[in-house]
Amino acid sequence: MAADRYLSFTGTAPGRFLTRRLGLPQPTPLCRWSEQQPRLDGTLRHLTAGASGLDLAPVLARTGLTPAPDGGPVAAVVLDATAVRDVDALDGVHAALHPVVGSVAPSGRIVVLGAPLDPADHHQAAAQQALEGFTRSLGKEIGRGRTVNLVRLTDAHAAESTLRFLLSPKSAYVSGQVIGVDATPAATPDDRDRPLTGRTALVTGAARGIGAAVAGTLARDGARVVVLDVPSAEEDARRLADRLGGSALAVDVTAADAGERIAAALPGGLDVLVHNAGITRDRRLVNMDAERWSSVLDVNLASVLRTTDALLEGGTLRPGGRIVATASIAGLAGNAGQTNYGASKAGVAGLVRALAPRARDAHGITVNAVAPGFIETRMTAAVPLFIREAGRRMNSLAQGGQPQDVAETVAWLAHPASGAVNGQVVRVCGQSLLGA
Ligand code: NAD
Repeated sequence: MAADRYLSFTGTAPGRFLTRRLGLPQPTPLCRWSEQQPRLDGTLRHLTAGASGLDLAPVLARTGLTPAPDGGPVAAVVLDATAVRDVDALDGVHAALHPVVGSVAPSGRIVVLGAPLDPADHHQAAAQQALEGFTRSLGKEIGRGRTVNLVRLTDAHAAESTLRFLLSPKSAYVSGQVIGVDATPAATPDDRDRPLTGRTALVTGAARGIGAAVAGTLARDGARVVVLDVPSAEEDARRLADRLGGSALAVDVTAADAGERIAAALPGGLDVLVHNAGITRDRRLVNMDAERWSSVLDVNLASVLRTTDALLEGGTLRPGGRIVATASIAGLAGNAGQTNYGASKAGVAGLVRALAPRARDAHGITVNAVAPGFIETRMTAAVPLFIREAGRRMNSLAQGGQPQDVAETVAWLAHPASGAVNGQVVRVCGQSLLGA
C-alpha cells in the first residue's frame, strides 16, 4: 500500500504552515474504532426542529455518549428534523444548528434525522428533500474530520443500530450520505459486544485488501468466517482464516459451479454473504477489447447475480440473513477509463434495489451495498501517482479511506439489529466530490 505522505506532512508544524499558505487541503487524521477507542470522546447534543413524535432519548442513551450540557464542545449532534413539513419549518434547522456547529469537536458527528418524503404533500416533500442539500453542503464545509449524514426514519428503535454506527468512530469515512431506515422491528443480539455470535459469514475476495478487513471485522463481531478467494491466493486465504478461527475456500467466483461449491462447503447454512471480489481492467472504451469488458462484468456483476441466486434458491442463506454487495462510486458517478467497471458496479446497485424487497418478504433477508470511494489498497496503489493523489484529496475529508472503514460499514449492515436497513447503497467515500 502506498503511504499517504501528504497527510503525515500536514501533521507537522512546518507542513501545516506551508500547506495553509499555499491554500492546499488540510486533512485531519480520523479517529477510527479500536479496542482502546470504542466510542467518540465527548458528549452528545440532541436538538429538534419542530415538535417531533420520535422517542429518541432511550436510543441515544444507549450510544454510550453522555448528554451535553449547554455550551462547551460536543462530540456528536443529533438534529431531529422529522417534523419539518414546510419551508418555514426549515428555519428551525438553521436555528438549532447555527449556534452549535462551531463547537463540534474534530472527528465529531452530525446526524440529521428526516422523515420519508410524502408523495401526497409536495410542501413536505420539498422541505424534507431540502434536508439532503443541507446535509451534503454542511458535510462539504465542516472540515476537521467531522462527518454529516441524514437518516430518514419513522421509528427510533428500528434505527438504533444505524444511529449507533453513525455516532461512533466506526463511521469515520462515511459522510454526506442519505440512509433510509424503515420500521422493521429490530432484533436484539444475545451478545451486544459480539452481535454475530453463532452466525456464519462468507466474504468473497477476502485474501487481501478490503475483503480481508471485512473478514477480520465480522470475526471480531463474533461470526465464524469463510475466507473465499481464487485458488492462486489460497495460501493467503488460509493464513487469514487460521488467524480468525474460520476456514478458507479456494473458488473462482466466475466458475459456473461456484454457487454449488460454496453451498457444499456450508452444510450448516450461511447468515452473511459479502460479495467483495472485484477487479479493474481500465481502458477508454475506444481502446477496450472484448476480454477487458467481459472479465470485469463477469467478476463484478454476473458472478454476484449467479451466486446470490444459487445461495438464495438453494436455501443456503438462512432466514434473517444479510447480503452485502460491493458497488463503487465509479458506478454511481462514472469514471473515465472505467466504462466496464462503472457498468458492473452500477449493476450491483440495480441488483440490490430490486432484490431487497423480495428477499425480505420471502426470507427476512436484507440486501444492501457499500460503495467505496478511494480506499488505500493494492488496487489503488497501482493507480498512477497524480491520479492517486487527486483521488485521495477529492473528498470532504481530503484523504483516502482505509479497508477498515468499508469493513465497519459492512458490519453495521450485517448486524442482526439492522433489519430495517434494506435496499440501501451506502457510499464509504469521505463524501467524494465525484457524484452526489
Ligand atoms: P484487491 O484487488 O486488493 O482485492 C480483491 C480480491 O478479490 C483479491 O484477493 C482477488 O484475488 C479477489 N478476486 C478477484 N477475482 C476473483 C474471483 N474471480 N474469484 C474470487 N476472488 C477474486 O481489491 P480491493 O481494493 O480490496 O477491492 C475490494 C472490492 O472493493 C472490489 O469489489 C472493488 O471493486 C471494490 N472497490 C474498491 C475500491 C478501492 O479504492 N480500493 C473502491 C471502490 C470499490
